Amino acid sequence: MDFHFTKAEEAFRAEVRSFLDANLPASDPPTEAELRAWNHALGEKGWLGFHWPKEHGGYGGTLIEQFILKEECSARRAPPLGSDFMGLTWVGPSIIMHGTEAQQQKFLPELLAGDSVWCTGYSEPDIGSDLAGLQCRATRDGDEYVINGSKIWTTLAHKAKYIFMMVRTDPGASKYKGITCLLVSMDRPGIEVRPIPALTGVHSFNQVFFNDVRVPVDSRLGEEGQGWMVVVRALANERSGISEATEKLRHLDDLIALARETRRGGRPASEDAAVRRALAGFQAKISAMRLNGMRYLTKQLRGEPAGTETSVNKLVRGQLEHEMWNLSNALLGSSAQHEGKWQTGSLGYHGTVIGGGTPNIQRNIISERILGLPKD
Ligand SMILES: Cc1cc2nc3c(=O)[nH]c(=O)nc-3n(C[C@H](O)[C@H](O)[C@H](O)COP(=O)(O)OP(=O)(O)OC[C@H]3O[C@@H](n4cnc5c(N)ncnc54)[C@H](O)[C@@H]3O)c2cc1C
Repeated sequence: MDFHFTKAEEAFRAEVRSFLDANLPASDPPTEAELRAWNHALGEKGWLGFHWPKEHGGYGGTLIEQFILKEECSARRAPPLGSDFMGLTWVGPSIIMHGTEAQQQKFLPELLAGDSVWCTGYSEPDIGSDLAGLQCRATRDGDEYVINGSKIWTTLAHKAKYIFMMVRTDPGASKYKGITCLLVSMDRPGIEVRPIPALTGVHSFNQVFFNDVRVPVDSRLGEEGQGWMVVVRALANERSGISEATEKLRHLDDLIALARETRRGGRPASEDAAVRRALAGFQAKISAMRLNGMRYLTKQLRGEPAGTETSVNKLVRGQLEHEMWNLSNALLGSSAQHEGKWQTGSLGYHGTVIGGGTPNIQRNIISERILGLPKD
């Protein structure tokens, strides 16, 4: 593994830095107008679909360039790259990989222009980790599918224009073979979105009900019964996106600042040996995550898919979230009950740990598919 960057890659890093100098929002958190301007500047530069191929309107950035871009953005605490995380990270790439030309022409330009928001319909009231057991049905009727069932924890369904969803088209087939992926417009008659309040008070989750929702057969992404293949690739994209080490470095910077500001036994908490040990441990884990990330990157550069290994960083990240937010609560003591940045974070981090697959599921993946251990 070579940890050095080429001259061209260093030149790209300089380009990113000057883009950030010119376009980073002045306020923290940014205003709506600043966010619009930021996304507009990214769109102009072609960086919204950064890793998408040029023939699909993307920038065609290399994996290394993408790594550099994300690292620099995170170091400067830049807002997310685009307003539609799900659309840009896994829906778009899935449409590029499995979509018909008509689907690509319909969905990709509006995704890149920031004119659509996508939500993702995997989980159901009785189905989460065991995703392949999903029950939401789509029955073929002439040139249409008729969808009946429900999806839950659907992030942003109340704002989304489309849903990228998995349905069961063949209940007689084996669990994995009877699943199909559909791209459905959220304004179809029979779709009802009900909000689910979250611990932090932010409206993000919903339950979505489908009552005899009719969609044309050409809403199908890939072949009938091939939905599992689509979802496995989309999930690898989701997990590799979640496991960003640089974002945790910024969290650690904030935690170190908090340790300097708060006091233990009349002295700054940052002078307490136990606190220092904990902070040093976080630093070591984050460095390990970064190096692990480079390992996936090296694999991808050799033309191999970043598959199940992304579960390792997802698992480490989950443990880190738990330990880091616990330390901030301990440092704040009774003032941890007040409302603020640290308090909201310590209520909200569970979402990052569970979303995209729980820690136990990552352990199962690592033990069975990476270590080759038996299932029972
Ligand atoms: C922030 C956030 C955003 C989300 N956004 C979406 C979204 O947009 N769309 C969507 O479809 N879903 C979304 N989800 C749902 C998410 O995918 C599920 O919550 C997750 O897959 C877990 O499923 P579950 O909640 O049904 O828990 P369960 O699967 O019921 O798990 C409960 C517990 O049992 C353990 N467990 C389950 N099976 C096993 C096993 N085989 N071996 C060992 N332990 C096991 C789990 O680890 C967990 O501790 C989101 C969740 C969160 C937190």
